[in-house]
Amino acid sequence: MTENDIKENLSKVLSDLADAAKASGRRPEDVRLCAVSKFHPQEEILAAARAGQVLFGENRVQEAYSKFTELAAIGGDPLELHIIGTLQLNKVKKAVEIASCIQSVDREEVLAEIEKRASALGKSIKILFEMHTGEESKAGYEDEVALYASLENCAKGLYPHVIPSGLMTMAPFTENEVLVRKSFSTLRQLREKIGRDYPSLPVTELSMGMSGDYKLAVEEGSTMVRIGTAIFGPRVM
Ligand SMILES: *Cc1c(COP(=O)(O)O)cnc(C)c1O
Repeated sequence: MTENDIKENLSKVLSDLADAAKASGRRPEDVRLCAVSKFHPQEEILAAARAGQVLFGENRVQEAYSKFTELAAIGGDPLELHIIGTLQLNKVKKAVEIASCIQSVDREEVLAEIEKRASALGKSIKILFEMHTGEESKAGYEDEVALYASLENCAKGLYPHVIPSGLMTMAPFTENEVLVRKSFSTLRQLREKIGRDYPSLPVTELSMGMSGDYKLAVEEGSTMVRIGTAIFGPRVM
């Protein structure tokens, strides 16, 4: 992709997002775009940044670490990075160093490790709880019971450096719109339930929607879409 392609793709995605928001009675600024740059080189991240994109998402901590720490060294406006891929415990330290949010928290162990590392760095970090809402997806909390155990520990103050900010999911990869919508509405309903059960926790974000399904996600209440292919094209690295 050339710099110009990326710029055009980005503005197309942003205007589609704005349209989808307005069509469902929401404000465009209520849906944030996370540009997923995994498997794309630094030049492409820089191209998107020059076109005004600030927030990026990466799956793999090692890849993100090498790309984004160098970008930080180059200077320019600081970019914001979210980790969106399943985390092994031994990657948590680096993830906490470079990211402002870890969207893919899928078990208590990871939560505890994030607290340990964030506390050592004297940093607070946002996290999203990843849920599986579609049959095929294996990522995410095993079930609601496991999620609630984590929420309970957050509410008890066990993780003072962790800010539980919302939920994340991936819809099933299917053409069946009904199933995709169901996955998104399931996540929204879960957030509403958590809001009632734990009003003290700031669980507000709904990270849902990718290149193939982001319009549906916005209609179902997404507050953040994670879009790679529609901006950067097929993954190359
Ligand atoms: C790769 C990835 C995306 C972006 O997918 P596209 O279909 O390229 O937009 C979003 N979320 C997660 C968790 C991903 O791994």
